[in-house]
Order: sequence, then structure tokens, then C-alpha cells
Amino acid sequence: MALAKTKYIWMNGRMVGWEEANVHVLTHALHYGSSVFEGIRCYETSRGPAIFRLKEHMVRLKQSADIYMMKLPYTVEELCMAAIEVVKANNLKECYIRPIAFRGTGEMGLQARNPVEVAIAAWPWGPYLGEEGQKKGIRVKVSSHIRPPPNSLPMNAKAGGHYLSSILAKMEAVQAGYDEAIMLDHRGFVSEGSGENVFVVKDGVIYTPPPHASILIGITRNTIMVLAEDLGYRVVEEDLTRAMLYVADEVFFTGTAAEVTPVREIDGIPIGGGKPGPITLHLLNEYKAVVRGEKPKYEGWLTYVE
Ligand code: PMP
Repeated sequence: MALAKTKYIWMNGRMVGWEEANVHVLTHALHYGSSVFEGIRCYETSRGPAIFRLKEHMVRLKQSADIYMMKLPYTVEELCMAAIEVVKANNLKECYIRPIAFRGTGEMGLQARNPVEVAIAAWPWGPYLGEEGQKKGIRVKVSSHIRPPPNSLPMNAKAGGHYLSSILAKMEAVQAGYDEAIMLDHRGFVSEGSGENVFVVKDGVIYTPPPHASILIGITRNTIMVLAEDLGYRVVEEDLTRAMLYVADEVFFTGTAAEVTPVREIDGIPIGGGKPGPITLHLLNEYKAVVRGEKPKYEGWLTYVE
């Protein structure tokens, strides 16, 4: 689906028109995937638009940049201010915000000394796996593509090049008639979706793979772990086998774009009777209330735009 265009994009310190936010064809990141990025959401609340966990996302952007030895020309605070400005300038109420830092032009080759450029765009974007998917659950395929091992790529960085593997997994799943892929890690344990973390519910306990399973350490993953514990559920981070997916009572994905999306089938096997389970729906409803500022306890996660 085409992007819902907005008016302005923040680029290298100033607001420019959507059509002006361009790069040269010899941009380093275009050739080698040398970019790091974020996905953040802003939700409408009774006190106006609020960006969810803005600081945590910008801190992760900085960490991704540090891992790839990219020196960001802005502080985390400056990037947070710029994100707020983009939402304001475009008069957006609910939107997805995409900051990206990338190696620009100047040299070719892998020494990657090119100066780092930064841009932040925002546009309206519904649930990544669809409204329908969020309501009824999605169908998932375990991918033949494994997540790159930690001594190949540092998957805890959210870097452009890492997504080539996710794209292969997603395309394979969609071509086979599924909605999304689940990737295993290099040891054969469950890692995550192509753009989401995964959770499994079994006998009332909530499980999710640990950081060493080559996952991106999701901010929604953390939000859900905190909310689940506060609601009285036990949450366990541990290695999960593929077979544990098949016998799960419930499986769901988390991500800024996907929010909480139930999984109703994996590799043709119905999960939890083929419909979203009660714990998934409990967490989805809690998440929706929290991001819209309806739960004062979690006010600290919201940055109001006005
Ligand atoms: N894993 C991958 C590979 C992702 O691209 C994303 C989306 N950023 C996530 C997990 C979820 O991370 P978050 O909850 O921070 O959006």
C-alpha cells in the first residue's frame, strides 16, 4: 500500500517538504545497507497526540549507531525534539514516526567513513498486519531463512542491512499464502517474526525468546512484559523450540507497527482453537488503553506533543 504522504520531513536539522527529502544515488547506505532506524508510534489521547516511549526508541537508535560506529550528529534529546516537531508540523494526531540515520555520499567502499545523515518522517499508518489480522489473528509460516547468528550480524541493532534476511522470510511466507514468517535462530530455537517479537502462552504462563536468540530487543516486547507482570501473569524469557509453537495455547506478535497481533495458525496447525486467546486479548486491550493515555500508572511512557 502506498505511503500516506505528509507535508514535511525533518532532514539534517531542518524541516523540508516531503518531495525535497531526497538522497544521491551514490549514498553509501543505498549500496551497503549502512543505515540504522526506528519505528515509533504516536496515538491520540484526551490530552492531544502522545508519542509512545519516544526516549527509549531514540536511545535504541543511538545504540544501533554505536554498534556500527556511526557518529550521530544529534543528541538523543535533540532527536526527541525533532520527532515532536515533525508530528506538530504535519498536524498529525495518530501516526508512525520513522527516524533514520545513514552513511551518505563521499566515498565508496567498506571503510564506511562517509558522514552520517539523519532524517525523521511521519505518516498515518494502521496496524502493520491489518485491522482484520489484529481482530481475528494471522496465519504464520516458520521460515526456511534463519536469523543471522550473533557472530555474523549484531541483530540487537536495528540496521537497514539486517532486513534483507527478514524480507526473504516475509516474501517466502506471503508467496506460500501466509501472512507472516517466524524465523528460527542459528541453533534452531525460535527467534522472532520478520518485524515483530513473538510470545507463546502455555498453561497460563507467558514465554518469549531471550536476547541471545538473535532477536531485536523490542520496546513493545518490554512494554508487554511489564504490563503482563503488573496484571499478575508470570513471564519467562527462555529458548523455545519450534514444536512448542505448535502446542501453544496462544501465540502473539508484538511490535510498534504490529502492536499486539494474535497468531491463529502456524504451518497449517491451528493455535488455541484457531482464534485469538484470552490472555492475548487481555494484553492487546491493556496495550491499547496504555498507549492512548487511559492508564495513569504508565503516563511516564507518553510524550505529549502539544
Ligand atoms: N523485531 C524486528 C525484526 C523488528 O523489526 C521489530 C520492529 N521494530 C521488532 C522486533 C519489534 O520492536 P519494537 O517493539 O521496538 O517495535
